[in-house]
Amino acid sequence: MAMFVDKAVITVAAGKGGNGAVAFHREKYVAAGGPDGGDGGKGGNIVMQADDNMSTLMDFRYKRKYTAPNGMDGQGGLKSGKDGADLVIRVPRGTVIRDRATGAVIHDMSDPVPYVLAKGGRGGWGNKHFATPTRQVPRFAKPGMEGQKREVVLELKLLADVGLVGFPNVGKSTLLAAVSRAHPKIADYHFTTLYPNLGVVWAAEGESFVMADIPGIIEGAAEGAGLGHDFLRHIERCRLLIHVVDASGSEGRDPIEDYEAINAELKQYSPALAERPQLVAANKTDLDPDGEALRRFRDYIAEKGLPLYEISAATGEGLRPLTLAAAAALQKLPPIPVFEEEFIEPEEAPPMPEELTITRQDADLWSVEGPWLERLLNRVNLSDSEGRMYFDRVLRSSGVFDRLEDLGVQEGDTISMYNWEFEYKR
Ligand code: GDP
Ligand code: MG
Repeated sequence: MAMFVDKAVITVAAGKGGNGAVAFHREKYVAAGGPDGGDGGKGGNIVMQADDNMSTLMDFRYKRKYTAPNGMDGQGGLKSGKDGADLVIRVPRGTVIRDRATGAVIHDMSDPVPYVLAKGGRGGWGNKHFATPTRQVPRFAKPGMEGQKREVVLELKLLADVGLVGFPNVGKSTLLAAVSRAHPKIADYHFTTLYPNLGVVWAAEGESFVMADIPGIIEGAAEGAGLGHDFLRHIERCRLLIHVVDASGSEGRDPIEDYEAINAELKQYSPALAERPQLVAANKTDLDPDGEALRRFRDYIAEKGLPLYEISAATGEGLRPLTLAAAAALQKLPPIPVFEEEFIEPEEAPPMPEELTITRQDADLWSVEGPWLERLLNRVNLSDSEGRMYFDRVLRSSGVFDRLEDLGVQEGDTISMYNWEFEYKR
């Protein structure tokens, strides 16, 4: 069990934006050219991507810090700095990302759409942006902004339509391989059988579903005696279960006892799981096609009024009716539950920022910079009026306006904060 990793904590840092350049156009015989400092490039984002070929969070045990590259600084000649490339982090489909501090769900990686987990910092503007008829020689540019940083918990909650349950050696892995042509990457690891396997089953033209082979459900699993607990958590998201029994009577197993024991396990773990629709598959029918064990099991399931799928994962006998029945059942079942994103409370308005640098860059132009302000700008959405109001409130309550006034800022002056400019109004 220790080898199966379904939870990991990582920190991610998006790239910093490049600085804008201060430069002036130079040409022979031209005394003073105009400003031509280019903009800094944007820092790379941290992008999360679901990957169907992955089935564990194992890699994240060994690498816990992820940093996207910074944007390059701008240069003279109006040359913009190169953007930092996005850093793509691949996770198994069904990985839920939570905020470490609050536990709130940030995103459920259930679909193939890439998710930006941390935004790269904007590049700073070069001095060409600050030339005006009255300010022809702007000797300043903007620094790039820090990228977002986050500490998150990754939690794998497998995303499969169908989960195979049953005792070890009844033929679950064989069945998955036979119906899905799955070649999961995890075969490279040791203890392959301790990893859940996923495979796509093509039931009919254009109709497919994902099947998971979750090993380790053994008697006593629900009390934590076996491998069960972690694995049972994964089948919670399956819409349909296929309950596989060895109906050959080989290995001295009794199919009825096994069937009841597994159902008791499921029920003890979670009543909801016990209620999950099940198809019953009697496997290894090639060994003793009309043996006593199979006949008894057949009667037993018939008495319950359930259909029985008699199969041989080894020869392929009966697999088609089973996959078609699974596909038909799935059509009537609700979709896989997805975790909703939860609102993360913005932090309290931060205290009066000491590290703020306020520079007078021109008669009526003031620049404000500092890590505190970068964090604030990264958090608020200034294209939204509520965001702007919040921003205004924080600047006011944290004393930034007071400091500006102490330094002589007048109503109507321009306050420049990184690549944003505001007209000062009290
Ligand atoms: P799991 O533990 O449930 O995943 O079981 P496996 O798929 O690993 O199978 C256990 C053993 O049973 C392997 O030796 C398989 O080759 C064998 N097996 C699986 N299905 C069949 C079947 O339909 N017929 C026969 N004869 N053997 C099978
Ligand atoms: Mg197996």
